[in-house]
Amino acid sequence: MTLPPLALDAQEMCQTLLRIDTTNPPGNERPAAEYLAGKLREVGYDVTMLESAPTRANVVVRYRGNGKAAPLLLSAHLDVVEADASKWRQPPFSGEIAEGCLWGRGAIDMKNMAAMSVAIMRKLAVDKPTLARDVIFAGVADEEAGCDHGSRFLVEQHPRLVEAEYAIGESGGFSLHLAGTTFYPVQVAEKGLCWVRARFTGEPGHGSMPRRDSAVVKMSEALATLGKTQLPVHATRYVQDFLAAVAARQPRAAQPLLKLLTRPQLLSRVLRLVPDLGTARSLGSLLSNTASPTVVRAGNKTNVIPGVAEVEIDGRTLPGQSDEDFLRELRHVLGPDVELEIMRSAPPTVTEPVASPLYDVIAKQVIAREPEAVVVPYMIPGFTDAKYFTQLGCKWYGFSPVKIEKESGIKFADMFHGHNERVPVAGLHWGTEVLAAVVHEFAAAA
Ligand SMILES: [Zn+2]
Repeated sequence: MTLPPLALDAQEMCQTLLRIDTTNPPGNERPAAEYLAGKLREVGYDVTMLESAPTRANVVVRYRGNGKAAPLLLSAHLDVVEADASKWRQPPFSGEIAEGCLWGRGAIDMKNMAAMSVAIMRKLAVDKPTLARDVIFAGVADEEAGCDHGSRFLVEQHPRLVEAEYAIGESGGFSLHLAGTTFYPVQVAEKGLCWVRARFTGEPGHGSMPRRDSAVVKMSEALATLGKTQLPVHATRYVQDFLAAVAARQPRAAQPLLKLLTRPQLLSRVLRLVPDLGTARSLGSLLSNTASPTVVRAGNKTNVIPGVAEVEIDGRTLPGQSDEDFLRELRHVLGPDVELEIMRSAPPTVTEPVASPLYDVIAKQVIAREPEAVVVPYMIPGFTDAKYFTQLGCKWYGFSPVKIEKESGIKFADMFHGHNERVPVAGLHWGTEVLAAVVHEFAAAA
């Protein structure tokens, strides 16, 4: 069978995937997984489809190497977050091509990666190169709602299918234009999560006689303090290395200021000088454990002062920090009377050592196409499927390559779960070629 050129194959599949609504909840990834399975069967693959729950489908396929080295996993989630169509310039499930971009929820997060990976798998099946490593593709459900029906399900129920030495997935590989230089971040670490229920108790009473020591008042005071407090800064090499790489490309005059940036205790103060609030907020979240109060509950009658008030706190922990460390910091802010209960926790994910043969190949292939660019390791404040896949021992690199021209004014970070998500068509083609080159070079080497 003759395939379209690789990049066009990826583009066509990305467009079709964008037209399949996999908003999570409810997810309903099955039609997307079936579509990709069909594309893979077309070139002769024996495809595994696994449903963790009705309509929550995962698709896994393997190109066999000669077994001289352990497998490489390519991973992409097939679900997307919701989109408010009234805020978009193109309908979010249209897969429209306009302004040089392919539009749709999932265009960069991350149906592009699914399409690029499947295009690469298809080409492997047709060209039949001899590889040292198996190359596995896993298109998974449910990343956007915590991974239970996707990567977690595969790792816990079907580990043999997705076991690999190295993995490439979310998130990284996009052009980041900072102060005159283009960086390509590669995710090597992500924070852990520690979701906590905080309970405050106080004397109940009648609403006609207010109490300063009521549970609701105590909780409100504690939350107001939490909102104004930055938890202690902890240095991690992921942030230090990233900032050092950025600093190295800046003019000499800016060096003294940038030196400050590598001193963690000063970082939070320096960040107040960063003009772009979004950048400051995301950098800030990488310096400390964080705690966002999200769900609040207390009382159910207007005239009754409740004896209990509860808040759910979305806590995120840095590499090197345990749940206990986080709870200690949290208690320090919320006060000694609070009861803290962990609702869900997962440790930070880190790839060690950061530099590896795969990281080197990624850097080499990016630089081959963009000699002025700098490839940098980085950490994300959220979590991805890396959280589960790495439990099987793989070294994870977040690298879903897409080139975004500086002149386009498109900012990757703004589109991630934002309105008007789109991928530049040329950037998708670029990403497909880079990813294919990385897979070929890395999987071929014994
Ligand atoms: Zn994602």
